[in-house]
Amino acid sequence: MIESVGQKIELSDGNMMPGFGFGCYKAEGEVLIDAIKSAYEVGYRFFDTAAFYENEEDAGRAFRSLPREKIFVLSKIWPSAFENPVAALDASLKALGLDYLDAYLLHWPGLEEKKRINTYEALMKERSKGKIRVLGTSNFTQKHLENLRERCGEWPPVNQIEVHPFFPQKDLCGFCEHRFIQVISWSPLGRGAGFSNPVIVKIAEELGKSPAQILLRWQIQKNYAPIPKSTHPERIRENADIFNFTLSPDQMIKLNSLALPNDAGRIGKDPDSFPEV
Ligand code: NAD
Repeated sequence: MIESVGQKIELSDGNMMPGFGFGCYKAEGEVLIDAIKSAYEVGYRFFDTAAFYENEEDAGRAFRSLPREKIFVLSKIWPSAFENPVAALDASLKALGLDYLDAYLLHWPGLEEKKRINTYEALMKERSKGKIRVLGTSNFTQKHLENLRERCGEWPPVNQIEVHPFFPQKDLCGFCEHRFIQVISWSPLGRGAGFSNPVIVKIAEELGKSPAQILLRWQIQKNYAPIPKSTHPERIRENADIFNFTLSPDQMIKLNSLALPNDAGRIGKDPDSFPEV
């Protein structure tokens, strides 16, 4: 379990990745640039973007103002670009103004196995050229991961998936853990949906912390790498200020019990049917 916001964890491919990150989705322009710089000052070292977010140019301006080797930049390829993954990677690098990515993920598995596997294989070659350090996946289910392993001969070192107490994806997270696939959790705050949940509010009051801090601390104690998003400096700081308290086993159990039945807590899309491209 990490003990500070910038602490790195070792991945199965030998690379090191900070165990806590900053989500860039739906932010752009000077607001995003200022937010990334604020996050860096607080100690964030891992920044999550994607071609789909259409903010790589703005994010890149912020990244290039920071010491390159001190930050971990992650971007992603959208399934509509699986026809030409090398061009998509090069376009992301160009937009970001960087000559390598710390991590590059298949954003969604997509609905076509052949395209997915071809894309991963093409990107393995780009990895060997040094353009990508960590090649990984996002929104892959157990079935997609097993198929990738069978066809490409490796488990991805990371899988970025929606995880929060209302949609904990317990089975998939357990599957990843046993194969040393690091879970990166997106929408770790459930986009704020649970901030007024009485169980979360009560635990927050017991510990003198905010609901957001309780949700993120739950992630850390599960050994997931959360990537919360905020553009407000005080919230960026608050979200990282979670390394001076511990949730008790009883509090963890109460948070674990918030999972909604039948995947009702899912905020995002189902990887088995999205995106149709
Ligand atoms: P999140 O759970 O991080 O919630 C973000 C929202 O919560 C913010 O818009 C803000 O309104 C609010 N918030 C943040 N900190 C707060 C605080 N301390 N107090 C009160 N409100 C606060 O949701 P997200 O942005 O969907 O997910 C985080 C990141 O995950 C994204 O920015 C993106 O980088 C990534 N992501 C990846 C995928 C994927 O398919 N791989 C999908 C969605 C998001």
